[in-house]
Amino acid sequence: MPITNEGGCACGQIRYRLLTPPLFVHCCHCHDCQRQTGSAFVLNALIETDRVEILSGQTALSEMPTDSGKPHRVARCPGCGTAVWSHYGGIDKLTFARVGTLDDPAAVPPDVHIYTRSKLPWIALPPNVPAFEAYYDSKTVWPAESLTRRRALFG
Ligand SMILES: [Zn+2]
Ligand SMILES: [Zn+2]
Repeated sequence: MPITNEGGCACGQIRYRLLTPPLFVHCCHCHDCQRQTGSAFVLNALIETDRVEILSGQTALSEMPTDSGKPHRVARCPGCGTAVWSHYGGIDKLTFARVGTLDDPAAVPPDVHIYTRSKLPWIALPPNVPAFEAYYDSKTVWPAESLTRRRALFG
């Protein structure tokens, strides 16, 4: 029986728990995410890093090249290579947890679709979820509670 807020890598070395619901959940259709996952998009649950508890194992960080030149560090299982989360822009206190590594990914649906300009053409987006051609202004899209949490994180 999966526990909705726990997840892990393919080989089971890495197990983790999200201590609270995420701030917001991105479905990113950009080409970098497509390439890095080998799939159509990535699902990222944005959450404060101190709310991600590692239950077992230790991740290894790999650096991804970025257009901005700012670091994008991906945390992987050293055994099986599964990417369990990443930190964009060198901001280590914010974690982008890979929703597909949760035991119950269906419990964490996307709150927004971004970079739809490179969305694969056969994907139909749900009409009730905001979608943006590129990035978006979180101040107008995130719920107030998440904005408050983000302010607490960044001061
Ligand atoms: Zn593993
Ligand atoms: Zn992306």
